[in-house]
Order: sequence, then structure tokens, then C-alpha cells
Amino acid sequence: MTTFKDLGLNPAIQQALDELGYQDPTPIQEEAIPQLLGGHDVIGQAQTGTGKTAAFGLPLLQYLDPENNEVQAIVMTPTRELCIQVTQALRSMAEHLDIEIVAVFGGAPIRSQQSQLRSGAHVVVATVGRMMDLMNRRSLVLTAARYVVLDEADEMLDLGFIEDVEKILRMCPSGRQTALFSATMPPPIQKLAEGYMYDPVTISITPKTLTVDAIQQAFVEVPAKEKTARLIELLKIEEPEQAIIFCRTKIGATRLERALKDKGLDVKALHGDMSQGSRDGVMIAFKDHRVKLLVATDIAARGLDVEHVTHVINFDVPNSSESYVHRIGRTGRVGRTGRAITFVTPAERDEIGRIERDVNTKIGEWESPEERLEHAPAPRRRERRPRREREETPEPEAVKDDAVKDDAETEDVPEREAEAVAATNGTAEPSADADNDSDGDGEKPATTKLFVNRGERSGIDEEDLRWALREGAVLPDEAVHDVRVLHRFSFVEVDPDQAERTVEFLDGTKLKGKEIRLEVAKS
Ligand code: AMP
Repeated sequence: MTTFKDLGLNPAIQQALDELGYQDPTPIQEEAIPQLLGGHDVIGQAQTGTGKTAAFGLPLLQYLDPENNEVQAIVMTPTRELCIQVTQALRSMAEHLDIEIVAVFGGAPIRSQQSQLRSGAHVVVATVGRMMDLMNRRSLVLTAARYVVLDEADEMLDLGFIEDVEKILRMCPSGRQTALFSATMPPPIQKLAEGYMYDPVTISITPKTLTVDAIQQAFVEVPAKEKTARLIELLKIEEPEQAIIFCRTKIGATRLERALKDKGLDVKALHGDMSQGSRDGVMIAFKDHRVKLLVATDIAARGLDVEHVTHVINFDVPNSSESYVHRIGRTGRVGRTGRAITFVTPAERDEIGRIERDVNTKIGEWESPEERLEHAPAPRRRERRPRREREETPEPEAVKDDAVKDDAETEDVPEREAEAVAATNGTAEPSADADNDSDGDGEKPATTKLFVNRGERSGIDEEDLRWALREGAVLPDEAVHDVRVLHRFSFVEVDPDQAERTVEFLDGTKLKGKEIRLEVAKS
């Protein structure tokens, strides 16, 4: 089996991979990385969850010359969620390289993005519309962009960006290297590849080799008008820690969210009709475990990378096998098992057979846990730990890891600080939406808490952080609710719809000469 070492990545990149805990390359990485390092154009038919970001990102980072301050590489993404996700992934892989990675996306002030570009960017990760805008304003010049990535190209097509993508490709040097990643290859994408890529190598990670094996799949046959009641019943029995429930339409998602809320369930909707701010708020709340159930449409949930989703429920049967794989890939992420349950009406019953054939999998009829226990061979029985025990099992906490890695290799966390962290982490966080008062704390304004890896020990005080929020993240003072500086790290609370942007703008920047890392604090 190929290891990352065999792939010939440079030591600084290898070190970052070790720190990220990537032991072996995933199939798409194993195949794509040597081709891209060899200078070939690559078409990667793969979706989120396969490790595609590192598949194009590692050769990209290896290609860059830190001494050259031009934009040498661009990554185009269809949505701003994916743009931010890719930027964060690249930054973590570039931890030990002297490389500037700038994200530009719609919905954030263009002026600060222009100034970031002026300060120098080796790589620009961008949504298509904002990239066009910045090029038209001459803030972004692509004459040296010789490494070009199109991520989730089919999604760009669905969202109507293909013409702009072509315009951007025409502005890049003709001798460039192009990587195109797409879950599906509809004819317009094939045409794009033919027109703008040079002799591409196609690497296809078929649904079979996706994480489907780690996912227990089942279907429920139910008449359309009984679906909601059945879902509520099923949720009670299955007790998901977190679940994504997929609906076909935005209206359907809104309706279902309301029905579940009426039953007192902890649920939020995520669909394309919502403002970008509320979408971000919902995403953060869900990633942060402050929301248990997410009712989503396919487009809105695309690219959503959440580690701890235990269940995916297809409330409406997906309209293609690709979509099925894509949806259920949201659970059973690297090394975990998950459950995927698909609702079909009697008229849709044949869809299950079709998916089974296309994906080469088996989808049995849903059974209650008791039935499952009766039928399962002993070692495969699903352990159902009592609720209390589950709640008390600590989650692996990115926040703590970072603090340890960055600031205190040998020291223990001082007592008072441990208490402060416990106290702040344990606070019932108001959810991102002001209308949610499920924790009974309706008076507190809705905020999102961010963790900052620096504190007093690094010579940072409250005023410094407020300055960074104001000047670096361009936040108005009223969007900042609380700044608490502890010995080794700090917490700031901001408006939920500003949280992602604050992280994006400040994470990896310097404050008082020290690099600061920000992330949404885990509750
Ligand atoms: P992606 O398909 O790029 O969205 O990646 C899906 C998830 O897999 C992300 O959380 C990555 O951090 C993780 N990942 C990517 N490559 C590896 C690897 N070689 N080993 C372990 N985890 C990985």
C-alpha cells in the first residue's frame, strides 16, 4: 500500500500531515497526487468525504514558490461554505510553509478582500462570482496562475456559473495545469474539460469505494401523508446524536422543520432560500453540536463536512444514485459508522432496487433495535449506551488540542483557567438564531463563541482583541458581545452571522507579532 512518504511530498508538508493525523492516503489521493505532481491535468470524479481536497491541495502546495509573490494557484468553488472549508484545509496543510492563502467569496466586504490580495497571496480560493468581480476591478490578476483547480464543477454548472468559469480559465496562462473535481460528469462538464484541459488523466472513485460500507443502510416504506409522523416515531427510536434529514424541495424542508419544531424537537432547516447569514448561523450551530437535527435540501448541504453525524435520513428518496451516495456520505465519516434510512412511498419502492444495483450495496427494510438485535450475529450488535453515559463521554475537542499544540507543550492548564474553560464551554449556548429559546435562556442575545489560542501569556489583552476584531475582521463594535482574555487563551463572542467571517479574516494572522488561531468554540 502506498504511503504519503512514497508520494514524494516535501518534509514540511509531510510534517503537517503527521500533525493532522493523516496516516495513509485515501484512494483518490493515492491516484491523483502522483499525476498532479507529475504536471498532468487531472479529472477527479469524487465527492466530499473522499479526501479530494488534499488530493488537489497537497500537489498545489508543493508546486508553489514562496519567493514569488504573484498569485500562482487558484481554486474555484461553487459556494462560500466550500470556499471557506477548502481554505481552512489548505491552511492546515500549509502550516509549515511560508505560503499565503487568501479566501475571497461573496457576502463579505470586498474592500478587505482587496487589501488582503494587495498584501500578497500565493493561492486564492474563491467563489466564481467574487473572483470575476475582483478580476474586473483589477484587484486579482491571474497571469501567473499556473495551477488551477475547479472544485465541485457539477455544482458550478447547477448554479449557472459555467460561463464565468470559462471566462476565468481564459484569463489564466495557457501553459497552466488544471485539476477538475466533480461528483458527476454531465455533458457540459465533459465539454468544459475537453475545451480547457490538456490531455487529462481521469480518476474515478466510484461510489463502491466510498464510505458506504461503514454505513448501515435501511429503507422504510410509508405512504406520503404518513411520512412526518413516521419520522418522528423513528427519531424517538433511533436516538440520533446528530442527524441530517434530506428533503427534495425548499418548501418541503421548511414545512418539515416546522412540524418537527412543533413536536419540541431541536431542529433547524438549511436551504437555498435562506440568507447567507442565517445559513452560516445554522451550519455553525450544527457543526458545534448546538442543533441536533438538520433538515436540508441537497444543494444547501453539499460540501457540508460534519464529523459526528450519526444518521442521515432521506425523507424524500434522492433523485439519483449519485445523490444517494452523496447524501449518506454525510455520516460514517473517516473511521466512524453511521446509519442511513431512506423513506419511500409504495410507488417509489423500485427506487431502492435501482440504488442497490447502481451502488452495489444492500439496503434492507428498517427494523427496530429489538428486531435488529434478534437478527444480528452477536459481535455486530449495536451497543446502545445509556443516555447519561453518552453525554458524559468527552468529545475529542479541537479547541483543547490546539491550545496544547500551540501554547503549552509541557504545562498543565492552570486550575482557574481549566475552571474558566469548563464554565464557558458548559454555558448553555444560545443557538445561532435569536428565535431559539429551547435552552430556556431567552434573554441572552444569540452569539457564537470563538476560541482564540492566545491570552495574557502572549502579551495580549482585551483591547488588542477588540482592535483585531474591529480592524482585522471589520466587525462593528455592536457585533462583538464579549471578550474574555485568560492566561493562555481567550474567548470572544460575536453575532452568529459574523462568526465564520471573523474566523476567516483573523485565523492565521498576527497580533502583537504572534500568530493567532481562531475557531468556533465547541460547546
Ligand atoms: P474531503 O473529501 O476533502 O472533504 O475530506 C473529507 C475528510 O477526510 C476531511 O475531514 C479530511 O480532513 C479527512 N481526510 C482527508 N484525507 C485524509 C487522510 N488521508 N486520512 C485521514 N483523513 C483524511
